[in-house]
Amino acid sequence: MDFDNTSPTDLASLGEFGLIKHLAQHFDIKHSSTVKGVGDDAAVIDNGNLQTLVSTDLLLEGVHFDLSYVPLKHLGYKAVVVNLSDIYAMNGTPRQIVVSLGLSNRFSLEAIEELYQGMLLACNKYNVDLVGGDTSSSRSGLIINITVIGAAEKEELVYRSGAKEGDLLCVSGDLGGAYMGLQVLEREKAVFKENPKLQPDLEGKDYILERQLKPEARKDVIEQFKALGIRPTAMIDVSDGLASEILHICEQSGVGVDLYEEKIPLDSLTYDTAREFNLDPTVCALSGGEDYELLFTIPLEDYNKIKNLPDFSVIGHLTPSSKGYQLIAKAGTVHPLKAQGWNHLGS
Ligand code: ADP
Ligand code: MG
Repeated sequence: MDFDNTSPTDLASLGEFGLIKHLAQHFDIKHSSTVKGVGDDAAVIDNGNLQTLVSTDLLLEGVHFDLSYVPLKHLGYKAVVVNLSDIYAMNGTPRQIVVSLGLSNRFSLEAIEELYQGMLLACNKYNVDLVGGDTSSSRSGLIINITVIGAAEKEELVYRSGAKEGDLLCVSGDLGGAYMGLQVLEREKAVFKENPKLQPDLEGKDYILERQLKPEARKDVIEQFKALGIRPTAMIDVSDGLASEILHICEQSGVGVDLYEEKIPLDSLTYDTAREFNLDPTVCALSGGEDYELLFTIPLEDYNKIKNLPDFSVIGHLTPSSKGYQLIAKAGTVHPLKAQGWNHLGS
Protein backbone atom coordinates (compact mmCIF):
# COMPACT_ATOMS: atom_id res chain seq x y z
CA MET A 1 0.00 0.00 0.00
CA ASP A 2 1.22 3.41 -0.96
CA PHE A 3 1.17 5.79 1.98
CA ASP A 4 1.68 9.13 0.29
CA ASN A 5 -0.35 11.18 2.77
CA THR A 6 1.78 13.74 4.55
CA SER A 7 -0.60 14.87 7.27
CA PRO A 8 -3.21 12.85 9.19
CA THR A 9 -6.58 12.78 7.39
CA ASP A 10 -9.74 12.92 9.48
CA LEU A 11 -11.76 9.72 8.92
CA ALA A 12 -14.98 11.68 9.27
CA SER A 13 -14.13 13.67 6.14
CA LEU A 14 -13.98 10.42 4.12
CA GLY A 15 -17.03 8.77 5.64
CA GLU A 16 -17.52 5.04 5.88
CA PHE A 17 -17.95 4.47 2.13
CA GLY A 18 -15.12 6.88 1.25
CA LEU A 19 -12.78 5.01 3.58
CA ILE A 20 -13.70 1.62 2.11
CA LYS A 21 -13.20 2.93 -1.44
CA HIS A 22 -9.87 4.45 -0.49
CA LEU A 23 -8.58 1.21 1.01
CA ALA A 24 -10.00 -1.05 -1.68
CA GLN A 25 -8.03 0.59 -4.51
CA HIS A 26 -4.97 -1.14 -3.03
CA PHE A 27 -6.46 -4.65 -2.96
CA ASP A 28 -5.24 -6.46 -6.08
CA ILE A 29 -7.09 -9.63 -7.05
CA LYS A 30 -4.78 -12.63 -7.49
CA HIS A 31 -7.26 -15.40 -8.24
CA SER A 32 -9.53 -15.69 -11.23
CA SER A 33 -11.96 -17.41 -8.84
CA THR A 34 -12.47 -14.06 -7.09
CA VAL A 35 -15.42 -12.94 -9.17
CA LYS A 36 -16.42 -9.96 -6.99
CA GLY A 37 -14.39 -8.38 -4.20
CA VAL A 38 -15.29 -5.23 -2.29
CA GLY A 39 -18.36 -3.26 -3.34
CA ASP A 40 -21.48 -5.40 -3.22
CA ASP A 41 -23.60 -6.99 -0.50
CA ALA A 42 -21.36 -10.07 -0.57
CA ALA A 43 -18.12 -11.20 -2.20
CA VAL A 44 -18.55 -13.81 -4.95
CA ILE A 45 -16.15 -16.73 -5.35
CA ASP A 46 -16.34 -19.07 -8.33
CA ASN A 47 -16.39 -22.70 -7.25
CA GLY A 48 -17.02 -24.36 -10.58
CA ASN A 49 -20.70 -25.24 -10.48
CA LEU A 50 -21.89 -22.95 -7.74
CA GLN A 51 -20.76 -19.48 -6.74
CA THR A 52 -19.88 -19.03 -3.06
CA LEU A 53 -21.09 -15.83 -1.37
CA VAL A 54 -19.40 -14.34 1.70
CA SER A 55 -20.44 -11.37 3.81
CA THR A 56 -19.62 -10.19 7.33
CA ASP A 57 -21.02 -7.70 9.85
CA LEU A 58 -19.61 -6.25 13.04
CA LEU A 59 -21.91 -5.20 15.89
CA LEU A 60 -20.55 -3.17 18.80
CA GLU A 61 -22.29 -2.47 22.09
CA GLY A 62 -22.92 1.26 22.42
CA VAL A 63 -22.63 1.80 18.64
CA HIS A 64 -25.03 -0.69 17.08
CA PHE A 65 -27.05 -1.85 20.07
CA ASP A 66 -27.94 -0.76 23.58
CA LEU A 67 -28.40 -3.59 26.07
CA SER A 68 -30.50 -1.39 28.33
CA TYR A 69 -33.46 -2.04 26.03
CA VAL A 70 -32.38 -4.82 23.67
CA PRO A 71 -32.94 -8.34 25.06
CA LEU A 72 -29.96 -10.61 24.34
CA LYS A 73 -32.13 -13.20 22.62
CA HIS A 74 -33.40 -10.57 20.21
CA LEU A 75 -29.87 -9.30 19.66
CA GLY A 76 -28.66 -12.79 18.72
CA TYR A 77 -31.56 -13.22 16.32
CA LYS A 78 -31.01 -9.84 14.68
CA ALA A 79 -27.23 -10.32 14.43
CA VAL A 80 -27.80 -13.43 12.31
CA VAL A 81 -30.66 -11.99 10.25
CA VAL A 82 -28.77 -8.86 9.14
CA ASN A 83 -26.04 -11.08 7.72
CA LEU A 84 -28.43 -13.39 5.90
CA SER A 85 -30.06 -10.34 4.36
CA ASP A 86 -26.85 -9.56 2.42
CA ILE A 87 -26.87 -13.04 0.85
CA TYR A 88 -30.52 -12.71 -0.19
CA ALA A 89 -29.61 -9.32 -1.65
CA MET A 90 -27.35 -11.22 -4.11
CA ASN A 91 -30.30 -13.55 -4.91
CA GLY A 92 -28.41 -16.33 -3.12
CA THR A 93 -29.07 -18.84 -0.35
CA PRO A 94 -27.23 -18.57 2.99
CA ARG A 95 -25.99 -21.91 4.32
CA GLN A 96 -23.44 -21.44 7.12
CA ILE A 97 -22.39 -18.78 9.62
CA VAL A 98 -19.35 -18.36 11.86
CA VAL A 99 -19.76 -16.27 15.00
CA SER A 100 -16.99 -14.38 16.81
CA LEU A 101 -17.55 -12.76 20.19
CA GLY A 102 -15.75 -10.27 22.37
CA LEU A 103 -17.03 -10.72 25.94
CA SER A 104 -16.43 -8.86 29.16
CA ASN A 105 -16.76 -10.52 32.58
CA ARG A 106 -20.00 -8.56 33.04
CA PHE A 107 -21.76 -11.39 31.19
CA SER A 108 -22.85 -14.62 32.83
CA LEU A 109 -23.09 -17.98 31.11
CA GLU A 110 -26.87 -17.59 31.18
CA ALA A 111 -26.64 -14.27 29.35
CA ILE A 112 -24.49 -15.77 26.60
CA GLU A 113 -26.85 -18.72 26.35
CA GLU A 114 -29.68 -16.29 25.78
CA LEU A 115 -27.72 -14.64 22.97
CA TYR A 116 -27.15 -18.05 21.36
CA GLN A 117 -30.81 -19.03 21.77
CA GLY A 118 -31.64 -16.08 19.55
CA MET A 119 -28.92 -16.92 17.04
CA LEU A 120 -30.02 -20.56 16.84
CA LEU A 121 -33.65 -19.56 16.45
CA ALA A 122 -32.67 -17.57 13.36
CA CYS A 123 -30.46 -20.44 12.11
CA ASN A 124 -33.41 -22.82 12.36
CA LYS A 125 -35.87 -20.46 10.76
CA TYR A 126 -33.57 -19.71 7.81
CA ASN A 127 -32.07 -23.18 7.53
CA VAL A 128 -28.47 -22.15 8.29
CA ASP A 129 -25.72 -24.04 10.19
CA LEU A 130 -23.55 -22.38 12.83
CA VAL A 131 -20.13 -23.88 12.03
CA GLY A 132 -17.53 -21.99 14.04
CA GLY A 133 -16.15 -18.69 15.22
CA ASP A 134 -13.81 -17.23 17.78
CA THR A 135 -14.11 -16.03 21.37
CA SER A 136 -12.05 -13.41 23.14
CA SER A 137 -12.30 -11.12 26.14
CA SER A 138 -13.27 -7.52 25.51
CA ARG A 139 -12.67 -4.31 27.46
CA SER A 140 -15.33 -2.36 25.65
CA GLY A 141 -18.53 -4.33 26.13
CA LEU A 142 -20.04 -6.93 23.86
CA ILE A 143 -18.68 -7.36 20.32
CA ILE A 144 -20.38 -9.64 17.81
CA ASN A 145 -18.97 -10.44 14.39
CA ILE A 146 -20.84 -12.83 12.14
CA THR A 147 -19.70 -14.05 8.75
CA VAL A 148 -22.17 -15.79 6.49
CA ILE A 149 -21.41 -18.15 3.64
CA GLY A 150 -23.98 -18.76 0.93
CA ALA A 151 -24.35 -20.10 -2.57
CA ALA A 152 -26.00 -19.27 -5.87
CA GLU A 153 -25.98 -20.46 -9.46
CA LYS A 154 -23.93 -18.11 -11.61
CA GLU A 155 -27.01 -17.20 -13.69
CA GLU A 156 -29.03 -16.38 -10.57
CA LEU A 157 -26.64 -13.85 -9.06
CA VAL A 158 -27.81 -10.25 -8.90
CA TYR A 159 -25.28 -7.46 -8.41
CA ARG A 160 -25.78 -3.80 -7.55
CA SER A 161 -24.38 -2.90 -10.95
CA GLY A 162 -26.90 -4.41 -13.38
CA ALA A 163 -29.64 -1.76 -13.45
CA LYS A 164 -30.53 -0.31 -16.89
CA GLU A 165 -32.15 2.89 -18.07
CA GLY A 166 -35.91 2.42 -18.18
CA ASP A 167 -35.95 -0.28 -15.48
CA LEU A 168 -38.45 0.03 -12.66
CA LEU A 169 -37.18 0.65 -9.14
CA CYS A 170 -39.03 -1.54 -6.63
CA VAL A 171 -38.91 -2.31 -2.94
CA SER A 172 -40.43 -5.04 -0.76
CA GLY A 173 -42.44 -4.39 2.41
CA ASP A 174 -42.50 -0.97 4.04
CA LEU A 175 -39.78 1.41 5.18
CA GLY A 176 -38.85 3.60 8.15
CA GLY A 177 -40.44 1.32 10.77
CA ALA A 178 -37.19 0.11 12.35
CA TYR A 179 -36.00 3.69 12.73
CA MET A 180 -39.23 4.79 14.40
CA GLY A 181 -39.06 1.76 16.71
CA LEU A 182 -35.61 2.93 17.74
CA GLN A 183 -36.91 6.45 18.41
CA VAL A 184 -39.60 5.06 20.73
CA LEU A 185 -37.07 2.90 22.61
CA GLU A 186 -34.66 5.84 22.97
CA ARG A 187 -37.46 8.09 24.23
CA GLU A 188 -38.57 5.58 26.85
CA LYS A 189 -34.96 5.09 27.92
CA ALA A 190 -34.62 8.85 28.47
CA VAL A 191 -37.89 8.92 30.45
CA PHE A 192 -36.70 6.00 32.60
CA LYS A 193 -33.40 7.77 33.31
CA GLU A 194 -35.31 10.81 34.56
CA ASN A 195 -37.71 8.76 36.66
CA PRO A 196 -36.95 5.05 37.15
CA LYS A 197 -40.38 4.55 38.74
CA LEU A 198 -42.18 5.17 35.43
CA GLN A 199 -43.02 2.12 33.33
CA PRO A 200 -42.02 2.41 29.65
CA ASP A 201 -44.93 3.40 27.44
CA LEU A 202 -44.67 1.06 24.46
CA GLU A 203 -48.38 0.51 24.00
CA GLY A 204 -49.64 0.18 20.44
CA LYS A 205 -46.09 0.33 19.04
CA ASP A 206 -45.66 -3.42 18.54
CA TYR A 207 -45.08 -3.37 14.79
CA ILE A 208 -42.29 -0.80 14.76
CA LEU A 209 -40.67 -2.25 17.90
CA GLU A 210 -40.58 -5.61 16.19
CA ARG A 211 -39.11 -4.01 13.06
CA GLN A 212 -36.29 -2.65 15.24
CA LEU A 213 -35.75 -5.51 17.68
CA LYS A 214 -36.59 -8.60 15.62
CA PRO A 215 -36.21 -7.88 11.90
CA GLU A 216 -36.56 -10.62 9.29
CA ALA A 217 -34.51 -11.18 6.14
CA ARG A 218 -36.59 -11.41 2.95
CA LYS A 219 -36.00 -15.06 2.06
CA ASP A 220 -39.63 -15.14 0.96
CA VAL A 221 -39.01 -12.42 -1.62
CA ILE A 222 -36.20 -14.40 -3.26
CA GLU A 223 -38.51 -17.43 -3.36
CA GLN A 224 -41.24 -15.31 -4.96
CA PHE A 225 -38.83 -14.14 -7.66
CA LYS A 226 -38.15 -17.77 -8.56
CA ALA A 227 -41.84 -18.62 -8.60
CA LEU A 228 -42.66 -15.59 -10.77
CA GLY A 229 -39.73 -16.08 -13.13
CA ILE A 230 -38.17 -12.75 -12.19
CA ARG A 231 -34.45 -12.09 -12.04
CA PRO A 232 -33.91 -8.49 -10.91
CA THR A 233 -31.34 -6.56 -12.92
CA ALA A 234 -29.86 -5.13 -9.68
CA MET A 235 -30.52 -5.61 -5.98
CA ILE A 236 -29.36 -4.43 -2.54
CA ASP A 237 -30.79 -4.77 0.96
CA VAL A 238 -31.98 -1.67 2.80
CA SER A 239 -29.65 -1.50 5.80
CA ASP A 240 -28.60 2.17 5.69
CA GLY A 241 -31.77 3.90 4.45
CA LEU A 242 -33.52 3.95 1.08
CA ALA A 243 -31.66 6.98 -0.32
CA SER A 244 -28.21 5.56 0.35
CA GLU A 245 -29.12 2.18 -1.20
CA ILE A 246 -30.67 3.76 -4.31
CA LEU A 247 -27.48 5.75 -4.84
CA HIS A 248 -25.34 2.60 -4.53
CA ILE A 249 -27.36 0.93 -7.30
CA CYS A 250 -27.31 4.06 -9.50
CA GLU A 251 -23.60 4.77 -9.07
CA GLN A 252 -22.58 1.17 -9.70
CA SER A 253 -24.97 0.78 -12.64
CA GLY A 254 -24.15 4.16 -14.20
CA VAL A 255 -27.78 5.33 -14.32
CA GLY A 256 -29.89 8.16 -12.91
CA VAL A 257 -33.17 7.81 -11.04
CA ASP A 258 -36.57 9.43 -10.59
CA LEU A 259 -37.92 8.44 -7.17
CA TYR A 260 -41.54 9.32 -6.35
CA GLU A 261 -42.17 10.29 -2.74
CA GLU A 262 -45.84 9.29 -2.89
CA LYS A 263 -44.87 5.73 -3.87
CA ILE A 264 -42.56 5.07 -0.91
CA PRO A 265 -44.31 2.38 1.19
CA LEU A 266 -44.93 3.45 4.79
CA ASP A 267 -46.87 1.55 7.43
CA SER A 268 -49.54 3.70 9.11
CA LEU A 269 -47.97 3.21 12.55
CA THR A 270 -44.62 4.37 11.18
CA TYR A 271 -46.32 7.41 9.66
CA ASP A 272 -48.23 8.33 12.83
CA THR A 273 -45.24 7.80 15.13
CA ALA A 274 -43.02 9.95 12.91
CA ARG A 275 -45.64 12.71 13.13
CA GLU A 276 -45.79 12.27 16.92
CA PHE A 277 -42.01 12.86 16.99
CA ASN A 278 -42.28 15.85 14.63
CA LEU A 279 -40.32 13.95 12.00
CA ASP A 280 -41.07 13.82 8.29
CA PRO A 281 -42.12 10.19 7.59
CA THR A 282 -40.49 10.32 4.14
CA VAL A 283 -37.16 11.34 5.66
CA CYS A 284 -37.43 8.41 8.09
CA ALA A 285 -37.79 6.02 5.15
CA LEU A 286 -35.03 7.70 3.12
CA SER A 287 -32.47 7.96 5.91
CA GLY A 288 -33.61 5.70 8.76
CA GLY A 289 -32.15 2.34 7.86
CA GLU A 290 -32.28 -1.16 9.35
CA ASP A 291 -35.45 -2.13 7.50
CA TYR A 292 -33.74 -5.09 5.76
CA GLU A 293 -36.18 -4.94 2.87
CA LEU A 294 -34.93 -5.66 -0.65
CA LEU A 295 -34.52 -2.81 -3.13
CA PHE A 296 -34.36 -4.08 -6.70
CA THR A 297 -34.78 -3.13 -10.33
CA ILE A 298 -36.69 -5.02 -13.02
CA PRO A 299 -37.19 -4.46 -16.73
CA LEU A 300 -40.46 -2.76 -17.68
CA GLU A 301 -41.65 -6.01 -19.33
CA ASP A 302 -41.77 -7.66 -15.89
CA TYR A 303 -44.20 -5.09 -14.47
CA ASN A 304 -47.20 -7.36 -15.07
CA LYS A 305 -45.61 -10.07 -12.92
CA ILE A 306 -45.53 -7.86 -9.80
CA LYS A 307 -48.22 -5.23 -10.27
CA ASN A 308 -50.86 -7.08 -8.24
CA LEU A 309 -48.58 -8.13 -5.39
CA PRO A 310 -49.20 -5.92 -2.34
CA ASP A 311 -45.77 -6.71 -0.86
CA PHE A 312 -43.92 -5.01 -3.74
CA SER A 313 -43.99 -1.28 -4.49
CA VAL A 314 -42.77 0.37 -7.66
CA ILE A 315 -41.22 3.59 -6.34
CA GLY A 316 -39.50 5.01 -9.39
CA HIS A 317 -37.62 4.33 -12.58
CA LEU A 318 -34.08 4.57 -13.84
CA THR A 319 -33.06 7.36 -16.18
CA PRO A 320 -29.93 8.24 -18.19
CA SER A 321 -27.08 9.13 -15.83
CA SER A 322 -27.08 12.69 -17.22
CA LYS A 323 -30.50 13.23 -15.56
CA GLY A 324 -28.99 12.67 -12.11
CA TYR A 325 -30.70 11.45 -8.94
CA GLN A 326 -34.09 13.07 -8.39
CA LEU A 327 -36.77 12.89 -5.75
CA ILE A 328 -40.17 13.97 -7.03
CA ALA A 329 -42.05 15.20 -3.96
CA LYS A 330 -45.78 14.77 -3.39
CA ALA A 331 -46.30 18.41 -4.39
CA GLY A 332 -44.61 17.72 -7.74
CA THR A 333 -41.45 19.64 -6.88
CA VAL A 334 -38.12 18.05 -7.81
CA HIS A 335 -35.25 17.71 -5.33
CA PRO A 336 -31.77 16.18 -5.56
CA LEU A 337 -31.72 12.78 -3.86
CA LYS A 338 -29.00 12.66 -1.21
CA ALA A 339 -27.86 9.98 1.19
CA GLN A 340 -27.92 10.87 4.84
CA GLY A 341 -27.94 7.31 6.11
CA TRP A 342 -26.17 6.01 9.16
CA ASN A 343 -22.62 7.15 8.86
CA HIS A 344 -20.93 6.06 12.05
CA LEU A 345 -17.69 7.78 11.15
CA GLY A 346 -19.30 11.05 10.20
CA SER A 347 -21.46 11.56 13.24
P1 ADP B 1 -23.61 -3.73 3.60
O1 ADP B 1 -24.28 -2.45 4.02
O2 ADP B 1 -24.31 -4.44 2.49
O3 ADP B 1 -23.29 -4.65 4.76
P2 ADP B 1 -21.12 -2.35 3.61
O4 ADP B 1 -21.54 -0.96 3.33
O5 ADP B 1 -20.84 -2.76 5.01
O6 ADP B 1 -22.20 -3.32 2.96
O7 ADP B 1 -19.84 -2.69 2.76
C1 ADP B 1 -19.73 -2.36 1.40
C2 ADP B 1 -18.59 -3.14 0.78
O8 ADP B 1 -17.34 -2.79 1.39
C3 ADP B 1 -18.71 -4.66 0.95
O9 ADP B 1 -18.24 -5.26 -0.25
C4 ADP B 1 -17.76 -4.96 2.10
O10 ADP B 1 -17.25 -6.27 2.03
C5 ADP B 1 -16.66 -3.94 1.91
N1 ADP B 1 -15.96 -3.55 3.16
C6 ADP B 1 -16.50 -2.96 4.25
N2 ADP B 1 -15.55 -2.70 5.19
C7 ADP B 1 -14.38 -3.17 4.68
C8 ADP B 1 -13.02 -3.19 5.15
N3 ADP B 1 -12.68 -2.70 6.35
N4 ADP B 1 -12.07 -3.72 4.34
C9 ADP B 1 -12.41 -4.22 3.14
N5 ADP B 1 -13.66 -4.22 2.63
C10 ADP B 1 -14.64 -3.70 3.37
MG1 MG C 1 -26.20 -5.03 2.17
